[in-house]
Amino acid sequence: MSGPAHPKCGVWMRPRTNGVSMLETEDGTGQPYKLWHGDLWECPACGEQVLAGFGAPIEKGHPSFEPLVLAGVDVTINGRMRALAEGSE
Ligand SMILES: [Zn+2]
Repeated sequence: MSGPAHPKCGVWMRPRTNGVSMLETEDGTGQPYKLWHGDLWECPACGEQVLAGFGAPIEKGHPSFEPLVLAGVDVTINGRMRALAEGSE
């Protein structure tokens, strides 16, 4: 078994949905920026979910970026928060 574990519950998380689309917005402008696809994992004990296992993103300007974004995304993530995640603020 690989993939995330949930330390709070002491269990492996289980895959729930593959190929979840996640749109990252640009820091500053808030405009669509990068489209990622990852897997949704869920803790079987508490139900907490995480997205992990991302491949390379499709970036703004790529011919398939706009059609895919217009078709709808599963999750939108705020690019402004990336600095917090990386600890540089
Ligand atoms: Zn848990």
